[in-house]
Amino acid sequence: MTDGLERVRLLIGGKEVDAASGATFESQNPYTGRSWAVLSDGGVEDVDSAVAAARQAFDGEWGRTTGQRRAALLRRLAELIGEHAETLARLEVNDSGKLFREMIGQLTALGGWYHYYAGLADKLEGRQIPAPNPDYLVYTRKEPVGVVAAITPWNSPLLLLTWKLAPALAAGCTVVVKPSEHAPVSTAAFAALFEQAGFPPGVVNVVTSQSREVGAHLAGHPGVDKVSFTGSTATGRAVARAAAENLTAVSLELGGKSPQVVFGDADLTAAANGVVAGVFAAAGQTCMAGSRLIVHESVHDELVELIAARAAEIRLGDPQDPATEMGPIANQPQYEKVLGFLRQAAADGATVATGGAADEQLGGYFVRPTVLTGVTPDATVVREEVFGPVLAAYPFSHEEEAVRLANDTPYGLAGAVWTKDVHRAHRVAARLRAGTVWINAYRAVAPGVPFGGYGQSGLGRENGIDAIEAYTENKSVWVELSGTTRDPFTLG
Ligand code: NAD
Repeated sequence: MTDGLERVRLLIGGKEVDAASGATFESQNPYTGRSWAVLSDGGVEDVDSAVAAARQAFDGEWGRTTGQRRAALLRRLAELIGEHAETLARLEVNDSGKLFREMIGQLTALGGWYHYYAGLADKLEGRQIPAPNPDYLVYTRKEPVGVVAAITPWNSPLLLLTWKLAPALAAGCTVVVKPSEHAPVSTAAFAALFEQAGFPPGVVNVVTSQSREVGAHLAGHPGVDKVSFTGSTATGRAVARAAAENLTAVSLELGGKSPQVVFGDADLTAAANGVVAGVFAAAGQTCMAGSRLIVHESVHDELVELIAARAAEIRLGDPQDPATEMGPIANQPQYEKVLGFLRQAAADGATVATGGAADEQLGGYFVRPTVLTGVTPDATVVREEVFGPVLAAYPFSHEEEAVRLANDTPYGLAGAVWTKDVHRAHRVAARLRAGTVWINAYRAVAPGVPFGGYGQSGLGRENGIDAIEAYTENKSVWVELSGTTRDPFTLG
């Protein structure tokens, strides 16, 4: 602690160190508005040190560990996460203003990801391939890709980091983590558990910084073999450009503008509940927020009324209080951005069914849960990701139109279909251009289920069996069996 504030340092090569420059920065609690932690403000030279430490670990003991050993370490880590779940959840709440009741659920479930990928760590099998010539034995090896840069956003920092770390470590990679400047504390505390679990020094390194240049330097670092990024589409583009300089592999989990498509025959109570969960949980600050309600004209008014009534009752307040349903917006720039979208929607002629403004009583960064109607498919609030508690509702008259409106977006992260008609449910799910479609549900994720986006929502998938492949290289090995020499001027 420093003057009553938590003191958080960089983790490089297994050592907690100050930034080379000695600089620090403070992290603000968005609920109290006060600084609560002092962090080392890493610079590009610290990124260089962290990448060198990760390379050294990869070339050292860690590079020789078996899948079985990595699995055992991941399982031990999962146990430690369980033991520290409450402490880590409280750090996340202080940093991002997200609800304790949500974060304790996330942290309690987090170990499941490490168990899942522990199960895959010793199953990275190559193949023996029939050779074109009997004088050869040919086989493939799945090898770790090397040093991974994991760059994460401020919403759900540990869950989204885990989606990268668990498969990367299971595959045998080493990692340099760059958490968001807006919510960096939980990542640093979490990283300390790796040493306790028995991971060798340098396998996981963390560079905190308030400068976005540091993320850019890491993404374009020639010592990095793979960049795994979660964040906004604009930054994702910059990351892909930087990685392209070195032809570094990239996976991107980006933004969304996900549709909730509600048909006239849907259970409207369930749909209203799902829409509330989709856009007001986490104050709408999730990539998978269901922020567009595309609803059949026959039930438009009834459903909007149900959602608006529930939204108006949402209990705003202290995110540490288990009774609170919605906390503040996570930081000032995001708060200003959300209010900007509300002003723009008003200028575009949207009707406010509920909310529509900052919460005057609570002040701070609180925005009232907002339902807008009378929007057109080309309105800014329909096209752009708000990343706040704002729902834009508009009607359709037939299935074809519903599919067209749902797919009328540059994004494609998620979406839902609400109907009791089983034929229509699967038919429409198949036609939605989105990485995840829920039917009569919303906002469910699990270690074994792939997650990621079409279009501008990203590249690649996290979670699931295949995600570990993104952290491996496939090597072909040819073995000459005859022991003779051959014509040096022919192929094969
Ligand atoms: P952001 O893009 O501003 O920042 C993300 C991270 O990138 C931060 O650590 C930041 O410091 C770093 N960064 C900034 N500039 C960089 C650069 N030039 N090169 C490399 N790194 C750089 O995103 P944010 O505001 O922290 O997060 C919100 C966004 O994340 C939303 O758009 C949301 O939809 C998206 N998101 C997506 C998913 C998903 O899985 N698809 C999950 C959560 C959040």
